[in-house]
Amino acid sequence: MSVLDDFIHEPRVAYFSMEIALRNEIPTYSGGLGVLAGDTVRSAADLALPLVAVSLVSRAGYFRQAIDAQGRQVEQAAVWEPREWATPLDAKIAVSIEGRTVWIGAWLYVLDGYLGGRQPVLLLDTDLDENRPDDREITHTLYGGDDVYRFKQEIVLGIGGVRLLQALGFRIRQYHMNEGHSALLGLELLRRYEYSPEDLRPGELPYDLPRVRALCNFTTHTPVEAGHDRFSYALVQRVLGTTVELAALRHLAGEDSLNMTRLALNLSEYVNGVAKRHAEISNTMFPGYRVHAVTNGVHPFTWTSEPFRKLYDRYLPSWCHEPEQLVRVDCCIPDAAIREAHMQAKQALIEQVRARTRAALNPTAPILGFARRMTAYKRPDLLFTDLERLQAVARQHAFQVVLAGKAHPHDEGGKRLIEQLHAQARALEDIMPVIFLPDYDMEIAQALVAGVDVWLNTPLRPFEASGTSGMKAAFNGVPNLSVLDGWWIEGCIEGVTGWAIGDAAGGDDGDARALYDKLEEVVLPLYYDGDPGGWIKLMKGAISKNASYFNSHRMMRRYATEAYIR
Ligand SMILES: *Cc1c(COP(=O)(O)O)cnc(C)c1O
Repeated sequence: MSVLDDFIHEPRVAYFSMEIALRNEIPTYSGGLGVLAGDTVRSAADLALPLVAVSLVSRAGYFRQAIDAQGRQVEQAAVWEPREWATPLDAKIAVSIEGRTVWIGAWLYVLDGYLGGRQPVLLLDTDLDENRPDDREITHTLYGGDDVYRFKQEIVLGIGGVRLLQALGFRIRQYHMNEGHSALLGLELLRRYEYSPEDLRPGELPYDLPRVRALCNFTTHTPVEAGHDRFSYALVQRVLGTTVELAALRHLAGEDSLNMTRLALNLSEYVNGVAKRHAEISNTMFPGYRVHAVTNGVHPFTWTSEPFRKLYDRYLPSWCHEPEQLVRVDCCIPDAAIREAHMQAKQALIEQVRARTRAALNPTAPILGFARRMTAYKRPDLLFTDLERLQAVARQHAFQVVLAGKAHPHDEGGKRLIEQLHAQARALEDIMPVIFLPDYDMEIAQALVAGVDVWLNTPLRPFEASGTSGMKAAFNGVPNLSVLDGWWIEGCIEGVTGWAIGDAAGGDDGDARALYDKLEEVVLPLYYDGDPGGWIKLMKGAISKNASYFNSHRMMRRYATEAYIR
């Protein structure tokens, strides 16, 4: 009897992701990509879709964020103890890194769904006695270190992951790469389906490529060429050696350098982008490939606050399995109940803000929320472009702002933005509260997306491939105020689910002005309208027209029918 018996009796889809947000106590994620991976497995559990997720154990996590007196980000290791949450597995496999044998073991985390389903998650670990000290650290820090460290992690994830699945007795019907980090898994499959020399025709790759392609699916997340992971062949040869012939690798992954996205594209029969616009952009960026669109979604139960869960349970009891039911909120949930549920979520956020920062927010004034990775293209500073104009807007209709987000330790621009936001918050102190909540994580996200009144998103087009935090807000009846990029191009019905900032085609110069205008003329007047019916209608529009569709159940049902079964 093994801990895996429950999982190896039927073939599964192997879902590979460098990061995964399993629960708040396990810091193996940095942002949206990891939360999406977690929501994918959570939905698979609810839908009884047999999956096995593969990721790294990242014992030192991503990092914990503190803010110093100057408003600068301070990074601390987010060490966690796998033994508290996961079971060590006996199996070990080896890969070759820099010509050495590096052993890889794994932890089994069992994800328990809310509807009784369970899914296995393998967290790969090189911290084994057999390994040299530096090799033991390969799976320590998520996105830490330099190119070489990253490439070693990708070898462990892709090649190690495939070998370990086999050693544990999993039967894999399909592989799914969540972003290009795991694309080396395809190389391992190529080796598995190598032709014997006598079957080979001249000029042909010595591998059964169609067979590998039929097994692989790839979700790309990056709308710009520069964002794709690339490694020089000198580095690849030194670290990986010649797992697959260099000529073949160049053919599959790019002539000049190993481009992980190229490799994943060439090894996968099914490829998709994470929103309709993103798929269009990817099709232009990669001519000759067919990039489908499966717009992201968020997990219904995880991202719905307690007061709204109770409400949906009462009026639409099957919503957790079938979030499409939420289309009915307009007609079957009383306005007063929606208002009351939101007030409870808002109070809970205000409490959290007080506990974490000692700041007191006003429950009767609207709160604008902005939280996501702090990096230049997300433009967390757009709201603060013109402080005078912002103050004028706030003098007319009082409002409050809550911000959160981590900058990647190597992203100097992102770190500077955090510093600037703190300076701007201080400059506005006497006019309006602008609160920065340190150490953004799943728990803060859950409180924020439910407790604010408007969810703000101001990315520079077309860099937001999808975005998911706004979908979480929708599950809690919180309307989005967002630039038309990513999912919002599909989700925005002006004045019904929220509002657009600027237009889809427009440049970004006018975005700040468009944001102030929309706040001043539309959003804040509606909030302060003597009749609250208009605002409640909007909250219901966000739930019925956004949450009913932009959820990970719909996303997984589409992956199942369009990608996994083909
Ligand atoms: C949902 C989530 C994100 C993604 O937010 P976007 O607005 O889609 O970038 C990032 N971090 C955490 C902790 C989240 O919960």
